[in-house]
Amino acid sequence: MTEYPAKLGLYIDGEWLAGDGRDVHHVLNPATGGAQADLPLATTADLDRALDAADRGFREWRVVAPEARAAILTKAAALIRERADHIARVATMEQGKPLAEARGEVLASAGLIDFHAAEGMRVYGRVLMRPAGMRSMVLHRPVGPVAAFCAWNFPALNVVRKIAPAIAAGCSIILKPSEETPGSAVEVMRCFQDAGLPGNVAQLVFGVPDQVSRHLLASPVTRKLSFTGSVPVGKHLMKLAADTVMKMTMELGGHSPVLVFDDCDLEKTLDTLVAHKFRNAGQVCVSPTRFHVQEGIYDRFVAGFAERTNKLTVGSGLDAASTMGPMANQRRPEAIAAMVEDARSIGARMLVGGEASGAGGFFYNPTVIADVPLEAKAMNDEPFGPLALIRPFATDDDAIAEANRLPYGLAAYCFTENGRRQNLLSETVEAGMVAINQVRLTWPDAPFGGVKESGFGSEDGPEGIMAHLVTKSVHIA
Ligand code: NAD
Repeated sequence: MTEYPAKLGLYIDGEWLAGDGRDVHHVLNPATGGAQADLPLATTADLDRALDAADRGFREWRVVAPEARAAILTKAAALIRERADHIARVATMEQGKPLAEARGEVLASAGLIDFHAAEGMRVYGRVLMRPAGMRSMVLHRPVGPVAAFCAWNFPALNVVRKIAPAIAAGCSIILKPSEETPGSAVEVMRCFQDAGLPGNVAQLVFGVPDQVSRHLLASPVTRKLSFTGSVPVGKHLMKLAADTVMKMTMELGGHSPVLVFDDCDLEKTLDTLVAHKFRNAGQVCVSPTRFHVQEGIYDRFVAGFAERTNKLTVGSGLDAASTMGPMANQRRPEAIAAMVEDARSIGARMLVGGEASGAGGFFYNPTVIADVPLEAKAMNDEPFGPLALIRPFATDDDAIAEANRLPYGLAAYCFTENGRRQNLLSETVEAGMVAINQVRLTWPDAPFGGVKESGFGSEDGPEGIMAHLVTKSVHIA
């Protein structure tokens, strides 16, 4: 039995806290279902202490020179790279994804910190000249202490996406990552601590999610809410945040359409899509979910998708042979099984998978279903699992109408060699991110975020820093 290598705790005002009669959450290994560590949960007094520290931390940190902030961020990124193998192992043991994917996630986190370090030095204002020597200035100032909550699917990257832009912009932050994947967050926070970040600038708490968010969002100290997770929880938090009218970033779920046209490079498209679909066992907010394929290539696409999916190897993320690990928690295979049963019962064609793997832990086999009726639950609710749903379409208008049918608007994928159609899709598909003839949507310098019920307020890119700033105009005679 491999030992879970993270020592868990809360990090408040520069101090690691555990024990002292705090309640604990048992952290499970998704590959076995067994408990592997105890996570201390914050008390109300802990949260008050964190708020007090964040208030002080913000006042001290906002006057630190951007170059000095950048130096700490850069050091933290270097430490994350140095410790990448260790952090990746922690991530795999608590979240399930294959080690190679976890390592890629950790290195991407370091790259994102480097980008924010540099971008934090490029927060410019402007000067407007007026008559008679008068002038106006437009300033961008850090918004204040941030309360951030993020999900378990990218246990290192989600954490960095919250901390890096906040501190690069001059804010303090209290972050509550998922209690199901705390170890990666703890290891990332240790890198910031060891890089010299003052302990009241970024703090880590775990607890009963609803209690923590209610407490932090009710406080007048908190000036921004940043959330990554499901649409229902996002809506709930937005209502709580309305009471103190705080700035918000909402990174919510998606149900990404994939529009595959007759003129695409079919073999290349299939290779790319199958690998992307089952990354992180489909537990990715931008995972391709609804595959709409033009009639001329439909049968070949379905057969090619099934053939490639059959070649995947499901197993523990620590096993180098595994191309897909378990799902992150017990809720996910249960949710996928219910969606599959529903689709099967209304006549969808099962091609691959459609069952839990029986290997213990939270495994569910890669599943491909064709001819899925539009009224199937899976065609309407975010699957968040290793489930590919395929349907045919006839015309461009049909494809666009289907892509825009749902209230989600996070990511969309299009495969066509026709340049005029590429332009049309870029403009008409209602999504915050559109990938054409490839699947990569995440670059440190490009905004990542959704429209419609998938949220608002991008992360990454200069937009990620701007989301932590307020605009002020000053008029001087
Ligand atoms: P969930 O909605 O209960 O939880 C999602 C995350 O939000 C968890 O990390 C949880 O700790 C946190 N959370 C829940 N209630 C909270 C509250 N009141 N205050 C603060 N944080 C709270 O769902 P789940 O079962 O963990 O995940 C399944 C669903 O979450 C999926 O269907 C998917 O839609 C969504 N999800 C989205 C993303 C994303 O990147 N957008 C990531 C993970 C999960």
